[in-house]
Amino acid sequence: MTETLAVRSTADLLDFDRRHLWHPYTSIDQPLSVYPVASAKGVRLRLMDGRELIDGMASWWSVIHGYSHPRLNEAIRDQAEQLAHVMFGGLTHEPAVELGRRLVQLTPAGLDRVFFCDSGSVAVEVAMKMAIQYWHALGKPWKNRFLTIRSGYHGDTFHAMSVCDPVAGMHSLYGGILPRQFFADRPECHFDDEWDPGDIASLAGLLEENHGQICAVILEPIVQGAGGMRFYHPEYLRQARRLCDEYRVLLIADEIATGFGRSGRLFACEHAGISPDILCLGKALTGGYMTLAAVLATAAVGHGISGADPGVFMHGPTFMANPLACRVAIASIDLLVESDWQARVKRIEGLLREGLAPCRECGQVAEVRVLGAIGVVELREPVRLAAVQQAFVEHGVWVRPFGRLVYVMPPYCITDEDLQTLTSAICAVVHSEVWR
Ligand SMILES: *Cc1c(COP(=O)(O)O)cnc(C)c1O
Repeated sequence: MTETLAVRSTADLLDFDRRHLWHPYTSIDQPLSVYPVASAKGVRLRLMDGRELIDGMASWWSVIHGYSHPRLNEAIRDQAEQLAHVMFGGLTHEPAVELGRRLVQLTPAGLDRVFFCDSGSVAVEVAMKMAIQYWHALGKPWKNRFLTIRSGYHGDTFHAMSVCDPVAGMHSLYGGILPRQFFADRPECHFDDEWDPGDIASLAGLLEENHGQICAVILEPIVQGAGGMRFYHPEYLRQARRLCDEYRVLLIADEIATGFGRSGRLFACEHAGISPDILCLGKALTGGYMTLAAVLATAAVGHGISGADPGVFMHGPTFMANPLACRVAIASIDLLVESDWQARVKRIEGLLREGLAPCRECGQVAEVRVLGAIGVVELREPVRLAAVQQAFVEHGVWVRPFGRLVYVMPPYCITDEDLQTLTSAICAVVHSEVWR
């Protein structure tokens, strides 16, 4: 009896979903199939039909400690009893202050003014507004354009879209109304290559010629995420910092994907030993429990903005510094720093290298690359998403490719055995026929 009910309700749920709900980047008329999740624990997603999948995606970089972690569950429960939400205009609370304290302590030196907002894209908007307001306040309102690097991804809202890769980014449709920015060639020097000084020439040239109009360089440090899943040389980042100083342009580091250990350092800027003027955090900030982002700025940026008309930073979201989100972020950060995450990420890196290496033998594969707890198999042709998705589910893993990229960034708590299952499944699917 309960069984038939459950079966019927799953069918109903999927039917309503198919007819009424938009999923990310999908058609409402010809939706791809979706898999209903009933619950999740550790690295396992449990589907409503009882099947279990090993999660390779950490729900897009965010679930670093795995699902339903007792410490994070407890933080949410406790905070819900105390104060689930209160406006941040004119009021403050301990979760915001304690989270701010941790972020100032852990992030690269000099970043000590914290703005909390709702999501990664909004954090990027906030960072870009800060840069524009900073130069406006310093009497140079014509410095209001941005320089970024190709193959980048910074989010889906309008100003964020304007600095996404202009070709690979899905935004050509909006080309006519997006602000026009400067794009440097993407770095070609891989993370482990010998540094090629020519790699920075494009960025240097654009800065030399246009710094008078540019308020900030915005980039993803070391790891370019959704724009191409590429890992570039730390010297590129050091040079970018040096050039920003030389030409008096702010540097915005978008660590929404890389923050909190994913690249092998707590923040990817540490690979180059640099501090940006403005830093964006999101995704793993709450361990994947709630949507929350933070923008950290230097005192110089903060004072600059506040020192001239209108004297305030012009942004203030309704759910700014939501106490539930801040509280679970504190618990997630504490869990991370108390753990031996460096060793764990190193171990995942080694197992990903070993486990994904056989993909190189496949004619369909252009490149296999690994950094920290991120593994990427780049194919020569775009994948047929629906068929590939189903093949992964049949192998008992959750991997969500896009374009020519099959990539994983599992929760750090994944066991060696589960990770081997995951990489074997990727090799099997890459070698199989589903591509043709
Ligand atoms: C995901 C991402 C964003 C956008 O974050 P949302 O929370 O999806 O708005 C911005 N920048 C980078 C580098 C990202 O990976």
